[in-house]
Amino acid sequence: MTDPAGRVVLVTGGARGIGAACAAWFCAGGHRVAVTFRGDDVPAPPPGTPGERFLAVRCDVTDPAQVEAAYRSVEEHFGPVEVLVANAGITRDTLVVRMSEEAWHDVLETNLTGAFRVAKRAVAKMLRLHRGRIVFVSSVGAFVGLPGQANYAASKAGLVGMARALAREVASRQITVNVVAPGVVETDMTAALGPARVGELVAMVPLGRSATPEDVAAAVGFLASDAAAYITGAVVPVDGGLGMGL
Ligand code: NDP
Repeated sequence: MTDPAGRVVLVTGGARGIGAACAAWFCAGGHRVAVTFRGDDVPAPPPGTPGERFLAVRCDVTDPAQVEAAYRSVEEHFGPVEVLVANAGITRDTLVVRMSEEAWHDVLETNLTGAFRVAKRAVAKMLRLHRGRIVFVSSVGAFVGLPGQANYAASKAGLVGMARALAREVASRQITVNVVAPGVVETDMTAALGPARVGELVAMVPLGRSATPEDVAAAVGFLASDAAAYITGAVVPVDGGLGMGL
């Protein structure tokens, strides 16, 4: 894998938040970057990125047909995906006693099964290329287990087991599979918690601040780079120390 020029990168949920920061990181490095989005607004290339190096593809990761269509679109434009950032994720927080089957299912389906779906599709081509990088975006919540997040914690812990099994399956082809576990990151997802709850969480962060999406993107970018060629099956915290020792 040549580094840094011109790999084909796919970021799920790349229209905003952490995914958008990852897309911008790879665009700044000269890669060809595709992002998935679901809404009406088609994401624009990050500032300074030529249009021909950026592609937005409509995709809901809970729909196998949309995943397949998105990959075909990326492959037609850029060729096979060499770096996958499985970032798309949701929360449906509530206590277990109040948690509906639907809230459980939706979170597992998006965060875990959706990640499986996009990784499976990427790996099929990476095996033939004999190279590739997969980075799953988990969460410190996988290890802490915050109240109200049984579904989310299960989905994000599940990513770790899946990543390690997959890492062993594909290692002989020089494909690496790793996980980043962000803490409190300034995005729409965190804003939904409200300032009081965010303040409580940030107060527990040894580095004394929340993360920017760019803090997470830098770790993802490193794991996707040649510099990380010997790192696979790892879980890299990007949490300001919040989860250390867990
Ligand atoms: P946002 O809510 O800002 O963004 C979530 C992204 O996921 C959006 O781009 C959204 O797409 C996409 N998405 C959600 N559901 C689907 C789906 N079914 N199909 C395709 N895309 C989907 O959150 P963040 O940027 O904060 O979160 C990104 C990831 O980071 C998530 O996996 C989250 O769990 C994880 N994380 C976040 C932390 C935080 O503090 N913010 C901490 C730890 C982990 P669309 O724009 O179309 O809605």
